[in-house]
Amino acid sequence: MGSGDGWTVCALGHRHWGLFGAAGVLIIESDRVILQHRAPWTHEGGSWGIPGGARDAGETAVQAALREAHEEAGLDEADIEPVGLYIADHGCWSYTTVVARPRRPLYPSAANAESVSVEWVPVAEVDDLVLHGGFASAWPKLQRVPAPLRLLLGPGAADEKLLADVAANGLAASRLPDGLDAGSLHRLLALPELVEDSDHAAALVAEAEPGRQILVVLDPAMLLSLS
Ligand SMILES: [Zn+2]
Repeated sequence: MGSGDGWTVCALGHRHWGLFGAAGVLIIESDRVILQHRAPWTHEGGSWGIPGGARDAGETAVQAALREAHEEAGLDEADIEPVGLYIADHGCWSYTTVVARPRRPLYPSAANAESVSVEWVPVAEVDDLVLHGGFASAWPKLQRVPAPLRLLLGPGAADEKLLADVAANGLAASRLPDGLDAGSLHRLLALPELVEDSDHAAALVAEAEPGRQILVVLDPAMLLSLS
């Protein structure tokens, strides 16, 4: 049993699994996604959803989602690149969908008794399946994934706690500068990469691989306004 295993009631009066909220991972690769066909004995058994479950105490949504991807789908977290978060906030309870891309070819499988199968499903076929309620409500918002974000952070006194928070939970989509695209996600994940000055940042931007968004924050104090 994890420390978060248990039922709770949200501010909207629903009963939910996960004392500290819950999280799952939606892995998207061009026109297909990894879905879990839930075992008959589970909550909403027989439906299709994403690998996920209760968050443990002190566990971030990303940590919980990647742990569940390993436990339920046999996937290695090193092979998964989280891009952003979609948060269904029910007040004192939330479900966070970690939207992610594969770093290399993934071969999911049903790794424990909670799944009939875990498999790649074409995006075009998802709406034909009986979906788990939580996933069904989030899915329409999750079909267009923004490009992953790189965050180049300038020198100076950075607040260690803020840096750790940004590394764990990313930046708020609503606070990102114009020109950056978060799709329908609430937060974009990005590990701060330290740069020496604006010339160094410009050099990194010039040689960056395509398919990624880049945000340069030269003054670390500005990070607070984006988190
Ligand atoms: Zn609720």
